[in-house]
Amino acid sequence: MTGWVCVVGLGPGDDGLVTDQVRAALAEASDVIGYIPYVARIAPRDGLTLHASDNRVELDRATQALDLALAGHRVVVVSSGDPGVFAMASAVFEACEGRSVLPQIKVLPGITAMLAAAASAGAPLGHDFCAINLSDNLKPFEMIEKRVRLAAEADFAMAFYNPRSASRPDGFGRILSVLRASCAPERLILFARNVTLPDQRIVTVALRDAAEDMADMRTVVIVGNSATRRVGPYVYSPRRAG
Ligand code: SAH
Repeated sequence: MTGWVCVVGLGPGDDGLVTDQVRAALAEASDVIGYIPYVARIAPRDGLTLHASDNRVELDRATQALDLALAGHRVVVVSSGDPGVFAMASAVFEACEGRSVLPQIKVLPGITAMLAAAASAGAPLGHDFCAINLSDNLKPFEMIEKRVRLAAEADFAMAFYNPRSASRPDGFGRILSVLRASCAPERLILFARNVTLPDQRIVTVALRDAAEDMADMRTVVIVGNSATRRVGPYVYSPRRAG
């Protein structure tokens, strides 16, 4: 019996957005590895071992997945959203560095938070956009500020992941200051919390009215470009720019 690792995205929360490919991988798995709230979404069954771990141990998790697969287990590593977007897929490949023997590894895509949020609001990412992780856990905050400043200068719409946490209460305020320095006060900004879940909440405000405490770790923030506008209850970015 040869083992394998499959790194999957469970989507933003609604079970209807888990792909058939991900369901099939989970049905074949002997082991599921991931962050506690994501593993909690997997139904227990005979023959399946659930390994839930806390935040910030991504590399340990990835190493465990590779070791189990090399020992013959069928391992699914779960992330929320898409596994390639600020999630476990990169960690699994980092753990591969320096190893001479690797198990078979597959990455299955999922619907990432910004796309689910954008779809719920209309089409705010309908023109060029970028995604920036605001956590300074693995990069200096100055780099985050620089990327936001240059993206605003280039008039990209932006999606911010991990905008604000209890351990980083002030960073998002600094990012709002960076935006205010280069964008008009009317620039639209969307705070999308618990997207696709029963308590989903999407609030759209002008940049002048945006406040730090509108974001938390369950929120993905979308900043429109200079042409992003409202039409009826929707927000969209026109296809034509300039
Ligand atoms: N791999 C995930 C992102 C992990 S980083 C993905 O592709 O979506 C965790 C961040 O994702 C959170 O801080 C938040 O910014 C965002 N996020 C994840 N699920 C979300 C949801 N249902 N609603 C709003 N934001 C979400």
